[in-house]
Amino acid sequence: MTYSGKRRRYRKKYFRLRKNRIWISVLMYFIVIAFAVVFLAVFVSAFMIFAIKGKIASEHDTDQLLAKQYVREIKTETRNPYNVIDEAGRDYFIRDKNGTVIYLKGRNTCGEKGYDFSTISMGVVGIESGFDEYKVYPDSENDSIRIADNDFAVNYKRVLKDTQTLLDSASPKEYIELPVWLAVPVLDGEQTIFFKACMRITAEEAVFAYIMLVALAALMLLMFLVMLIDAVSNAVTQNRITKLFFTDIVTKGHNRMWYLYRGEQIIRRRHWLKSGLAVVNISFVDYRRFCVCHSIAEGEQILQQIYACINSRMGRKELCAHTSDGSYALMLRYSDEALLRRRIDELLQGLQSIDTGHRFTFHAGVDIISLPDESAVKLFFKGSDIDLEIEYNNACTAQASIESSDDSGAVYFDEKFAQDQKWIDTVQERQQSALENNEFVVYYQPKYDPRTNTLRGAEALIRWQSPDLGFVTPYRFIPQFEKNGFITEIDHYMISKVAKDQRRWLDMGYKCVPISVNVSRAHFIESDLAEQIRDMVDAAGTPHELIEIELTESAFFDDKKAMVTTINKLKEYGFSVSMDDFGSGYSSLNSLKDMPLDVLKLDAEFFRGEMAGTDRGEIVVSEAIKLAKSLNMRTVAEGVEVREQVEFLASQGCDMIQGYYFAKPMPAADYEQRMKK
Ligand code: C2E
Ligand code: CA
Ligand code: CA
Repeated sequence: MTYSGKRRRYRKKYFRLRKNRIWISVLMYFIVIAFAVVFLAVFVSAFMIFAIKGKIASEHDTDQLLAKQYVREIKTETRNPYNVIDEAGRDYFIRDKNGTVIYLKGRNTCGEKGYDFSTISMGVVGIESGFDEYKVYPDSENDSIRIADNDFAVNYKRVLKDTQTLLDSASPKEYIELPVWLAVPVLDGEQTIFFKACMRITAEEAVFAYIMLVALAALMLLMFLVMLIDAVSNAVTQNRITKLFFTDIVTKGHNRMWYLYRGEQIIRRRHWLKSGLAVVNISFVDYRRFCVCHSIAEGEQILQQIYACINSRMGRKELCAHTSDGSYALMLRYSDEALLRRRIDELLQGLQSIDTGHRFTFHAGVDIISLPDESAVKLFFKGSDIDLEIEYNNACTAQASIESSDDSGAVYFDEKFAQDQKWIDTVQERQQSALENNEFVVYYQPKYDPRTNTLRGAEALIRWQSPDLGFVTPYRFIPQFEKNGFITEIDHYMISKVAKDQRRWLDMGYKCVPISVNVSRAHFIESDLAEQIRDMVDAAGTPHELIEIELTESAFFDDKKAMVTTINKLKEYGFSVSMDDFGSGYSSLNSLKDMPLDVLKLDAEFFRGEMAGTDRGEIVVSEAIKLAKSLNMRTVAEGVEVREQVEFLASQGCDMIQGYYFAKPMPAADYEQRMKK
């Protein structure tokens, strides 16, 4: 029900951290490996290029020499210029500047594309070779040196293959020849002589290069393996940690962390927007008791069975996790709320019969994650608008509200529920300051004799006049005070106030009548309650017979012996004791038998409920009055609003009537006026 924008926190940080760590290490591996590969490739290439360049350079020196002689012969015209080169005994050809071959000796196997050797570039590093126009061409019959678009690379495969042959022959004098063509421009570029040169790689060089290559390759492989092993083991550890983090130790199923993590994923994916999602908390109420009566091991076995049972009923993209003791978190998808309700009821029924020897109780709290229907809202909905932890907390709060119930059932968290919870919190927050600031006010509701219409008594009823909450009726806060224990302070406060008022009225000369004060059942646990009341009344200096103590019927269920003792003590001190709300419970008669009470207050239900006005209702009321009389008790009828009822009660001998017919509860000042009359 919440659309909280506040994003959170330790849990999310944990997941982000976890994810980041995996990605960071994977990224690191790739970066390191890429670096290693690039570094090795550059290193080897550089080495090869330098080695080859050195060799080509020496060839080039010879060729330059021949070219110079050729030019000289042309200029002096002493000899046939070609003879100078022919004597060197190598294949060559001469091209004019149009590209036409003007002379050829041997075979022309010069490759197409030349590589400029005046600058040897390796990536960003350019190394000057020291020659102006210095081009190297591959040999078309032998691609030992491959020259591709501005890219120079040694055909390692070939080198390695030949090296192997070389190594096999094991003679250090042998060498591999790698033919290339060198272009030397002459006569200011009018002609270019292409010499076939043979690079020679000796066995020592080949062995050195070979060993280096193999060593580097082995090193790279080793590095790669180490990293791979590290990555795999890291992933395995990570997986194990994740599993441990998400596994519930009791049921071996999923835990709360997993539920929140997966649940938020589901919410973020938005698929459910078409239908709906419900967050459910199911509690196995009897778990702790079961462990006490059996054993923790057996209790945990039941928890496992419950988990298995719920889990087997989960559909696609639905979740179930064991969150704590007897609690399970569920995420259900639904298309129709009525069906969802039925499904949850069936689930609870199924769980009840999980153990043949017992019939367990299960409570469910349900929080339906619903969105406003407008499509625009759905369109702009972000998964992060919903905080699953809050939704689950709502479901738990709903479930906790029926904690005390012995029957299995489900409570749905809705707007009203949320308001109630807020109100409970507000009351708890303000109760103490309200008491200190005198915000609690005593109202008095007179009790009249129906035959003579004279004032015979009154009941003190509390009101809360809060500066910011307004006028609050006791139905809105007394039940909470009873729950949170604050009621004992309220009871003290009321008794003191009433005693003081009575004293004041006595002093003013009024003819005071007994005023009854409600004392809650929670108070009856205190063994010195009677003394406390006596001391408070004495402190005000009020005669005890002017104070009556009202006990609600539910109070009589507690420790009967202690109760009888307290009642007897109160009577001994001179207070009257009345039984409030007689007839609203079940064992009223039983309590009457044991409790030495003075007054019986007939519950308002007799006069306002279904029985009111019926023959049977009248019979019950008249018999109750008779019963009270025979037990020497006075009777007060509560909640009487109409004259017929007053007449009927008068005819039956009812002693007093407290109801709107005579008077509503009123402030002390108004009550004073009533006393005057
Ligand atoms: P209660 O003790 O049964 O009080 C009687 C309630 O019935 C009062 O409600 C009173 O205003 C109402 N009532 C009396 N005559 C009529 C009638 O003719 N028609 C109708 N419709 N109602 C009538 P109130 O004052 O709102 O008190 C509600 C309950 O709150 C009380 O029920 C009592 O259980 C509790 N309460 C009120 N004041 C105190 C208090 O000082 N201490 C404790 N412990 N409980 C209190
Ligand atoms: Ca009462
Ligand atoms: Ca009552």
